[in-house]
Amino acid sequence: MKLFADYHTHTKYSDGRGSPAQNIEAAAGRGLAEVALTDHGPRSIGIGVAGPETFINIKEEVTALAPVLPDIKVLVGAEAAVIGSDGRLELPKEIIGQLDLLIAGLHPYYMPDNLRDALLYTLPNLAARLNRSAREKMRSTNTKAMIETIHSYPVDIISHPDLMLPVDTSELARACAEKGTALEVNTGHDYNKEEIVRSAARWGARLAINSDAHYPESVGELDSGLALVERLRFPVEMVINAVC
Ligand SMILES: [Zn+2]
Ligand SMILES: [Zn+2]
Repeated sequence: MKLFADYHTHTKYSDGRGSPAQNIEAAAGRGLAEVALTDHGPRSIGIGVAGPETFINIKEEVTALAPVLPDIKVLVGAEAAVIGSDGRLELPKEIIGQLDLLIAGLHPYYMPDNLRDALLYTLPNLAARLNRSAREKMRSTNTKAMIETIHSYPVDIISHPDLMLPVDTSELARACAEKGTALEVNTGHDYNKEEIVRSAARWGARLAINSDAHYPESVGELDSGLALVERLRFPVEMVINAVC
């Protein structure tokens, strides 16, 4: 199995260190054929882009730089956080419609839309990070929210499932299999990735192996994810960024 793309990298427009050009050059240096720039959305506290329109600015920057950049396919996307129990994302649909790739993920720190969301979703999820019984209670709320998200938006990939906030990976994998959404094996974080691969295999869902690089040097650092899916004999044709 060989990986030809890294579909999850951050630039200085959110909490990454490199410029779009640096991430693109790093991906080409690793021999990848494709790379995605997927910065955090504007509601993410301390790590997000300045505003929704930043994604359009990044697209324009990449287009303008294209003549001097390496010959590699560049996708400008976003990693958008789920900000309500109804599966709402932190980005307006008009912006999402202009992206090349959409990653949706559960993150704890963002500005909720209103007090109701804050009380019923945001704060209980923060409590779930500290308390085991709160965590189990939020697992089903988050799973339902994430499934709503993939039904309401054109989500390509769900980032690091069950890492920061609890989710039922098996139920999520079943929904992803129906919608064609990929679950992520994220090499930049430690979490139960084996469970993600097994859940995807059980239900026939696809996987994406991504770096979640926040530095250009880490773009395309995918070996540990590749080794995991090979060890668990996950089918190569079900990994969206792999070929034989
Ligand atoms: Zn993330
Ligand atoms: Zn990320």
